[in-house]
Amino acid sequence: MIKKLGLVLSCAGVLIFAAYSTLTNTRWGQDFLLQQAISVMAAGTTPSPRIDGLEVLVCGSSSPLGMNSGQAQSCIMVRAGDQIFLIDVGPGSNRVLQANNVPLNLLRGVFLTHYHSDHISAIYDVNLTSWVAGRPSSLQIFGPTGVSNVVNGFNLAFELDRKYRVAHHGEDLLPSEFGLLQSNLVEPGLIFERDGLKVFAFRVDHKPVEPAFGYRFEYKGRSVAISGDTIVSPSFIAGIKGVDLLLTDALSPTLINNFADAAEATGNDRLAKVMRDVLDYHAHTTALGDLKETLNIKQVALYHLVPVPANSFLKTIFMRDLPSGTLMTKDGDRFLLTSRSQDEIIIEQ
Ligand SMILES: [Zn+2]
Ligand SMILES: [Zn+2]
Repeated sequence: MIKKLGLVLSCAGVLIFAAYSTLTNTRWGQDFLLQQAISVMAAGTTPSPRIDGLEVLVCGSSSPLGMNSGQAQSCIMVRAGDQIFLIDVGPGSNRVLQANNVPLNLLRGVFLTHYHSDHISAIYDVNLTSWVAGRPSSLQIFGPTGVSNVVNGFNLAFELDRKYRVAHHGEDLLPSEFGLLQSNLVEPGLIFERDGLKVFAFRVDHKPVEPAFGYRFEYKGRSVAISGDTIVSPSFIAGIKGVDLLLTDALSPTLINNFADAAEATGNDRLAKVMRDVLDYHAHTTALGDLKETLNIKQVALYHLVPVPANSFLKTIFMRDLPSGTLMTKDGDRFLLTSRSQDEIIIEQ
């Protein structure tokens, strides 16, 4: 009986291998496979929300001190039902959004924490991909003082790009007005409310960058806060209190101080100076350790890593001042906060 079963399995294996070889090694087989793959890609369906609640995707986990890591810089996506928002859009974030099949036709706004380049550089990439994907209105850009300058600058820089694309594809497919970014100046407090979603801005401390904000999203009893760049300050603490999920900026003082010392020792005083300057406006891991307990936060996750650890040894040093359960994120990590339960957070890493 066992012999017979073995014979059947080997025959099946041979047949599968032969079919696979035929499909991949012949022109008609290749065309068949290509048509199947492309028809799935070209269907253009909008994926439904994964859950009834908040879905969070890390679309940029790095900082400028992580350029060799291959990770995108500062970007978090929040989905609430059929509304998608981004909190900052650093270099590389558009690639991560596309790689993770984010339906950008549902993108309704970008909340900017401040205007350092690692938080805004990909604004126009995201504007273009969401416009082409069929976003049915202009992309709204929210931010503190200065937002109109940033938005007007991007609109002007890419004016010709918009004209070329409308001339090529037509107004019906790409309405000109939806290609123009629109600015929205925000102040701390409730800044956005639609279909059960509330977004609050809170002040953070990133001097000399002023003002700089973090954002808090509340939807169906669940909440997530995104820090932007900040030291651990009183207004930051007030903004994140009691949140289900905190995504926070994180700097390892041990790693940065050692890198600065090494740069100084080898005569690279410019790099040493930059490293030491960076120390005074990001959240030190030594100051983040108590937040979960004292502020009743269910999950603390680190993003905007300064620096992105290049290997597991450096990661261990980065995390050594933080309580167990703290997560270091990477691009593509997802958090699902269902309205079914007030405690459950599904983490997909
Ligand atoms: Zn910054
Ligand atoms: Zn930054």
